[in-house]
Amino acid sequence: MAIVNMREMLQQASRGSYAVGAFNILDYNSMRAVIDAAVECSAPVIIQTSVKTVLFWGYEPIIQWYRQLAGTVSIPIAIHLDHCKDLSVIRDCIDHGWTSVMIDASSKPFEENLALTQKVVGMAGPEDITVEAEMGAIVGVEDDIHVKQQDAHLADVEEAERFCEQVSLDCFAPAIGTAHGVYKGEPKIAFDRLQQIAQGTCLPLALHGGTGLSDEVFLRCISLGCAKVNISTQLKYAHIDGFVDYYRSNDKEYNPLKNLAAQYERLKEGIVKNIQLFGSAGKA
Ligand SMILES: [Zn+2]
Repeated sequence: MAIVNMREMLQQASRGSYAVGAFNILDYNSMRAVIDAAVECSAPVIIQTSVKTVLFWGYEPIIQWYRQLAGTVSIPIAIHLDHCKDLSVIRDCIDHGWTSVMIDASSKPFEENLALTQKVVGMAGPEDITVEAEMGAIVGVEDDIHVKQQDAHLADVEEAERFCEQVSLDCFAPAIGTAHGVYKGEPKIAFDRLQQIAQGTCLPLALHGGTGLSDEVFLRCISLGCAKVNISTQLKYAHIDGFVDYYRSNDKEYNPLKNLAAQYERLKEGIVKNIQLFGSAGKA
């Protein structure tokens, strides 16, 4: 039960009009915070790894943390590679035991994006690994993918339908006006387009750029078809602030385990709130 791909949990979320949180971990402590938060809420959850995080630690340590932490609990937990345009990294993740991958060829023209996505689905299918693909350009910086405001464009409804008809995806990420990183001003979300793409593709949609959206925006996106919500920037802040705030109020102590415990608590607290807001608590 614990070690699973995203298929079943996202289909259930779609049917139940809630969303599964996908949290970008940075290390063992943050993975532990995500899994403990999900266990506490009895929620399905997705451990998400950026390519940078994977290359920083290496494949084997990350998958060992996952197996050890997820293998001993009963809630469903997927491990998903976030935004990846490098097929060799995707191959290595599949070979090491990731249960889910995202191919992000959204900067390529339609046919090229489709061909690369089909290739990844061909690699993942035999291993029963789920695949997410992206269309349109989500503004901001995610890993080494930089999209400037003037280059950001929303996914086209007709193109999205045509794309998803030609490749068997488990999750689809159309650009709908959200951004990676920290929002400057109120984001303009294309709710109509989101709804049309969800209905037209019949796929669970992924909401990228979740950090900083209001509760109302989250709930509306979820009600319109987002079954996976990505949270990354929030964890980066909690990771550093949890550690540093402890140091600031105990600056003579130099007991790093206490800083790490404070970091873990800060991470977990935010994740529990997200899970409760997304409606996945009690759904494991
Ligand atoms: Zn993203």
